[in-house]
Amino acid sequence: MRRKLVVGNWKMHGNKASITELLGNLAQASAAAGAEIAVCPPFVYLPLVEQLLKDKGIAFGAQNMATAEQGAFTGEVSAAMLRDCGCRFVIVGHSERRCLFGESNTEVADKAAMAIRHGLVPIVCVGESLAQREADATLDVIGAQLDAVLAAVKDLDWSQLIVAYEPVWAIGTGRTATPEQAQAVHAFIRGRLAAVDANIAAGTRILYGGSVKADNASTLFAQPDIDGGLVGGASLNAEEFAAICSAAG
Ligand code: PEP
Repeated sequence: MRRKLVVGNWKMHGNKASITELLGNLAQASAAAGAEIAVCPPFVYLPLVEQLLKDKGIAFGAQNMATAEQGAFTGEVSAAMLRDCGCRFVIVGHSERRCLFGESNTEVADKAAMAIRHGLVPIVCVGESLAQREADATLDVIGAQLDAVLAAVKDLDWSQLIVAYEPVWAIGTGRTATPEQAQAVHAFIRGRLAAVDANIAAGTRILYGGSVKADNASTLFAQPDIDGGLVGGASLNAEEFAAICSAAG
């Protein structure tokens, strides 16, 4: 039985005051949700979030990390530093990192492996662009993204690894994949993981991301291979995010 998980990706939004207010409201509103909940603030707010979430039953993580262990990499933040700051999760390979910062499948795979080695749970984002979907290349693109990660983690304990299917055309656009479209890709992802280890694949949580809102969350989360959501815009509103968490159980 896979416990559903809802993760808020705040991207580069917020400040001390807005985060304090958001988490205060979220902790109250989401207290009854049966799903696991996490938020991923910008790096600089991790200590504040750790303090605000103490004993609140909401986990937190980072939106990115370095591929290197440590050293002369100005501006980078390592996996060990994220653990030191109390992170449980780290998002790797978000499409904005891939598209805007040129992260390759290999780099994303290296980050996933590094995260596991440091006791972090990587949330590995995969997804196709609109052009790739229209060219019928969705499964090829996602297969290649996944294969790179599986090659990098196969000799590690990847049983906690999480995959987030985020069609690029659905992120921040208000255009959501239909539950059927999402389920088809999620089933493909689980099959690809099962080819490496069927036991692990059966327990792997595969999240959907891309314009998840309170009014579409329950039909998405009702699909057999959708184990929760990675939520951007809607996670910045405590009431909306809490409603999405409730839809997850
Ligand atoms: C995201 O940031 O990963 C995301 C899915 O954004 P949104 O929910 O705003 O589409």
